[in-house]
Amino acid sequence: MDLYSGHINKLIEELAALPGIGSKSAQRLAFHLINMPGDKVRRLTETITAAKENVRYCRECFTLTDQELCPVCASQKRNHKTIMVVENTRDLAAYEKTGKYEGVYHVLHGAISPMLGIGPGEIRLKELMGRLQGEVDEVIIATNSSLEGETTAMYIAKLIKPTGIKVTRIASGVPVGGDLEYIDEVTLLRALEGRVEL
Ligand code: ZN
Repeated sequence: MDLYSGHINKLIEELAALPGIGSKSAQRLAFHLINMPGDKVRRLTETITAAKENVRYCRECFTLTDQELCPVCASQKRNHKTIMVVENTRDLAAYEKTGKYEGVYHVLHGAISPMLGIGPGEIRLKELMGRLQGEVDEVIIATNSSLEGETTAMYIAKLIKPTGIKVTRIASGVPVGGDLEYIDEVTLLRALEGRVEL
């Protein structure tokens, strides 16, 4: 049953494959795109392609960036001996928005989840351990308070403990299962300031 043209069907299918977009939203977006002026659609596709081609992982912290080193890692004003471990670049952005954190980050790109079959090897954990060979005073674990985030925090703490480096965990108060990016700055700062040693 082909209600729409094949091209529209294909577009809806591609859009529906994106996270958080159900088939209704995909249809709405597809028709919106079709009705947009040609130059706007071109600009959108070029922006997507350029982002895909030019964005890479920071050589140091593995956040997504346009440079070899992200602005945080490249800054001399930051305290490079304090590393905050976050699950993704959006979480990093949430902490950066507070403007109060002076250390650097490490982006795991995920969390350990036995249920989803994501093991320690699937996230940027080896890279974190590599960074600890340098001069590091403290590792702040700021993974989410979801089951996966807690599992990951415990795993990392256990790995780091023997090195003698101080390991802390941001305070709870961050809602359970809440993505860090949706939490207001005051709550984030309170969680950071109230961090406890593991
Ligand atoms: Zn970086």
